[in-house]
Amino acid sequence: MFLKLTGLKTTLWSALALSLAIVITLYSVSYWQPKIFLIEQVLLGLFIISIIFSAQFSRSRFSILTSLWALYYLVKSQWLPGNTYLNNESEWLFLSGVLSIGLLVFIKDRGLLSLHGFLRLFLLVTAGLVAKAWLIVSVWLFSYLAPYQLPYLDLTLIKITLPLAVIGALILFKSLRSPSLLVAALLTSLVIWVLIYYQQLDLPLSVIVTLLLVQYILVVVIDSYYLAYRDELTGLPSRRSLNQLALSLSRQYTVAMLDIDHFKKFNDTYGHDIGDQVLKLVAAKLAQVKSGGRVFRYGGEEFTIVFPRKASIETIAELERLRQSIADYDIAIRHPVRKTKKSRAAKKPNDLKVVSVTISIGVATRSAKESFEHTLKRADQALYRAKKAGRNNVSE
Ligand code: GH3
Ligand code: MG
Ligand code: MG
Repeated sequence: MFLKLTGLKTTLWSALALSLAIVITLYSVSYWQPKIFLIEQVLLGLFIISIIFSAQFSRSRFSILTSLWALYYLVKSQWLPGNTYLNNESEWLFLSGVLSIGLLVFIKDRGLLSLHGFLRLFLLVTAGLVAKAWLIVSVWLFSYLAPYQLPYLDLTLIKITLPLAVIGALILFKSLRSPSLLVAALLTSLVIWVLIYYQQLDLPLSVIVTLLLVQYILVVVIDSYYLAYRDELTGLPSRRSLNQLALSLSRQYTVAMLDIDHFKKFNDTYGHDIGDQVLKLVAAKLAQVKSGGRVFRYGGEEFTIVFPRKASIETIAELERLRQSIADYDIAIRHPVRKTKKSRAAKKPNDLKVVSVTISIGVATRSAKESFEHTLKRADQALYRAKKAGRNNVSE
C-alpha cells in the first residue's frame, strides 16, 4: 500500500525554521557576542519557563527534554559538578542523549508529578543503562566481525553510527508519517545533538540551547492554538475560527450551511466509527472548495462555508459542484472489526465497504446592515428548505 507522508510539510517547515534561526544567529555574531553573558543569564530563566510552560500545556515531553538540556548545560558550564566525567564518557553521553530523544518520540505526554512521571524517569535511566550496555556489546560485536574484514567496518560505526542511524530513521519516519510539530522538534533536537557531538556547530552551547528552547516554547504555543481553532476529527477550522473570521469580514459575503443527509440513520446502520471516517472524508472533499470559500466544521455533521466578498449568485455553481462531487463519491471504508494483521494480509474483499452520502446546502448573502449571526441563521433556514425539498440539493 502507498505510504502517506502527511507529516512531510510539518517536518520540512520545522527544519527550515530552525536552520534559518541558526544561520541568522551565525551571521549576527558581532551583535550578540558582547551580550553573551546576558544570554547565559536569560537561558537559566528560559529553562524554568520552558519546563513549567510545557507542563502547563500538557506537553510534558518538552519539560523532560528541557530538563535534560538544563542538566547537560549546567554540568558543561560547570554550575554543577561532573564535567570531567562527561568529557571522559562522551560516547556514552551522546548515545544516552540519542536514546532519550528516541524514547520521548514514542512515549505520551502525561502528568509529570504522577506515577507516569516516575515511570518516565525510570525509562530515562534505563536509556542510560542501555547506552552503557551497547558500548560494551558493540566492542564484543566488533571483535566478532573483525575477522571477516568487511569494508568500511570499524568500531565507531557499530558503536555510534549504527544506533544513531536506526534511531534517527525511526524518528524521521514517525515525523514524516503524521504531522506533529512536537515530533519534528524532537527530530531537529536530535540533529542539533549530533552536530554538537561532532562539533560542527560553531556557536556557544548557551546560544544553541536558547534557540532550541525558543523552538519548544513556540511549538507549544502553535500547538495550543491549533487545538483551540482546529477541529480534531476533520482537521478543519472549528466554530471558534468561524467566529473569529466573522469579525474580519467585509460588507459583502455569502454563507452556506451544509448538513449531511440522514446521518443518524447512517450511524445506526454502519456504526459511529464508520460515521466518523465518512465525516473526515466528506470534510476533505469540502476543503477543496474553490471560489475563495472557507470551510469550517460548525458542529456534528454540519459544515459552514463562508465566501468573503461574494454574492450568492457567484457561489451557487461551486456549491452545486461540491454537492454533486459528494453524491458521486464512492467512499471506500475499512471494516473496523476485521482490522487484524491476518485479515489485512489476506485482503478479503469484504474488508472494504463502499458507502455514499449526500448533503443538503442552504445559502444566504448578507443583506445591508445585517449581523453575521443573522446571515448564518438565514442560511440555516435555507438549509431547512433544502431538506424539505427532498435533500441532496442547494437552496437559497
Ligand atoms: P437530516 O437529513 O435531517 O439532516 O437527518 P440527520 O439524521 O442527519 O439529522 P440529525 O441532525 O437529526 O442527526 C445528526 C446525526 O449526526 C446525529 C448523530 O448521530 C450524527 N453525528 C453528529 N456528529 C457526529 C460525529 O461527530 N460522528 C458521527 N459518527 N456521527 C455524528
Ligand atoms: Mg444536523
Ligand atoms: Mg443531517
